[in-house]
Amino acid sequence: MSQKRKPKFGQNFLIDANACTAIADALGDISDRTVIEIGPGHGAITSLLAAKAKRLIALELDHSLAAELTFKFREQPHVEIIIGDVLECDFASLVPSGETVDVIGNLPYYITSDILLKLFAAGRSGLLNRAVLMMQREVADRIAASPGVKDYGLLSATAQMNATVDNLFTLPPGAFNPPPDVYSTVIRLHLAPRFAEFSVDPTGFDTFLKLLFAQKRKTLHNNLRAAGFDSARLASAWPETIPLQARAESLNLEAMTELYRALKTAES
Ligand code: SAM
Repeated sequence: MSQKRKPKFGQNFLIDANACTAIADALGDISDRTVIEIGPGHGAITSLLAAKAKRLIALELDHSLAAELTFKFREQPHVEIIIGDVLECDFASLVPSGETVDVIGNLPYYITSDILLKLFAAGRSGLLNRAVLMMQREVADRIAASPGVKDYGLLSATAQMNATVDNLFTLPPGAFNPPPDVYSTVIRLHLAPRFAEFSVDPTGFDTFLKLLFAQKRKTLHNNLRAAGFDSARLASAWPETIPLQARAESLNLEAMTELYRALKTAES
């Protein structure tokens, strides 16, 4: 049986010119913006961005691709190619203090979740405004899912606590070379953290969300019991608005934050 080899570093290059243009345009007017591109590859989107952005910083892990791009953009001083791992990069160090950035990228799919968490952190610190990202369609569907539908889970709640999400368009495998095994979707995030609005602390609430979704088949109550919350505390704090048998996937952010605040109050 022949087995398809996965390309290294998630290298499925975009070859659909219309899609490249649509992605580069999805950030709107960037003539006064600094844009960070994650994984520029051979530069399919990079060239379009270079013509539009005030400053473009492209982060590429693959040394030979980075060398190719450094040569290609050698006469464009507003384009900077950095060799390295996006997950290790300190975005704040790339721009003067107080400046904000936009992020764009046809992501390496194998690290999509880690990149998203990094972007949410950058949104919370006020560094990141918007991000236009291509990812596996199923991941994009989970990010945008509403409570009560199958796709709604920890990623949905985390994303929606940190950003509003526009689902822009979906591409078939044939839009890439080599074609991936999956369809791909481009989304746009407006980073707008909601922790202050719901009066919850970001770090504590992040941990709480993980507990709520620890086992999707279990009720919220059982997940919290398994995490060490005692029955008496749960009983005294449990909001009337949340059924005792509810599962995390049925709860919107208002209900989850209400439960978190009630348990914190019961603790103190
Ligand atoms: N932007 C190009 C395009 O659309 O054709 C390439 C996209 S390809 C899906 C992902 C790119 O991310 C590749 O160029 C790959 O080398 C790069 N990459 C993979 N892991 C990375 C990492 N940890 N940090 C930075 N770039 C990475």
